[in-house]
Amino acid sequence: MNILILGGIGEAVKLARALAATHSIIYSLAGKGRQPELPCQIRRGGFGGWQGLEIFLRDNAIDLLIDATHPFAAQMSHHAAQAAQRTEVPLWAYRRPAWQPTLGSDWRFVTDWAGIQSTLGEFQRPFFTIGLEPLQHTTEIPANQHWLVRCLAADVPMTSRLTLLCATGPFSLEQELALLREHHIDVLVAKNSGGHAVEAKLAAVQQMQIPVIMLDRPVLPPVNREFETVKSLLDAL
Ligand code: NAP
Repeated sequence: MNILILGGIGEAVKLARALAATHSIIYSLAGKGRQPELPCQIRRGGFGGWQGLEIFLRDNAIDLLIDATHPFAAQMSHHAAQAAQRTEVPLWAYRRPAWQPTLGSDWRFVTDWAGIQSTLGEFQRPFFTIGLEPLQHTTEIPANQHWLVRCLAADVPMTSRLTLLCATGPFSLEQELALLREHHIDVLVAKNSGGHAVEAKLAAVQQMQIPVIMLDRPVLPPVNREFETVKSLLDAL
C-alpha cells in the first residue's frame, strides 16, 4: 500500500519505522526541527494548502493518508481532511489522549491567549511552554511579572522582564525541578499536547504544588478512523 504519513512528532516516526518494512511509505515533515533517520522516503515542507495536498495524493497514488501531526497542528489536520474527502483517500489519525489533572493538582483550563492573559494576573513568575505566542506579547508584560519562555528557537529583543530559553526536549524530572526552582516559577502555562515527551514538567509542578494554566486543544476534523496508540493503528493495518 502507498501510505503518506503527516508527521512531526515522535510517534509518527515510530509509525513510519514500523510500516516501512511492509508498505511504501512517504513521511512528510513541515520543515521545522530535526529530520529523523528513516528507512523510507522523506519529504519536507508544506504542500501549498489542501489543494497542493490533493495533487500530491493523486500524483503519488496514495492509498491511505495518516495524520500523525501534533494535536496543535490543526491547520494541517484540516487540510488533510479536505484533501482526503476530495480524493476519497481514506484518512486515519493518530490522536494521543489529552493530559488530565491528577488528584490535588490545580489546573485552570483556557482556550486561547485572552484566557491565558486573564488567568495570569494573580501570578508573578510564569513559565510558558506553549511555543512562540508569548513572544508576540512581551511589550505587555506587567511591571510585577517576569516571564520565562521556553521554545525550540526564537530571536527576540531581551527585556529585563523576559528570560528566553531555547531548548529541545525531552527534559527529565530533575531538570524541570531545577528550572522551576532557579527561576522561582509560580505558574506553568502549558498546552495540552498529551504524550510522554514533555510530560515531566507536569510531574515537577505537581511535586512543587505550582498551578497550571492549561491551553485546551483546538477542534480537529473528523476522520475515517482514529487511534489513541501507535500499536492500535499498526494492528489495524
Ligand atoms: P499547522 O499550523 O497545522 O500547519 C501550518 C502549515 O505547515 C500547514 O498548512 C502545512 O503547509 C505545513 N505543515 C504542517 N505539518 C506538515 C507536515 N507534517 N508535512 C508537510 N507540511 C506540513 O502546523 P504547526 O503547528 O506549525 O506544526 C508544524 C509541524 O510541527 C507539524 O508537522 C507538527 O506535527 C509539528 N509539531 C507541532 C507542534 C505544535 O505545538 N504545533 C509541536 C510539535 C511538533 P501547507 O499549507 O503549505 O501544506
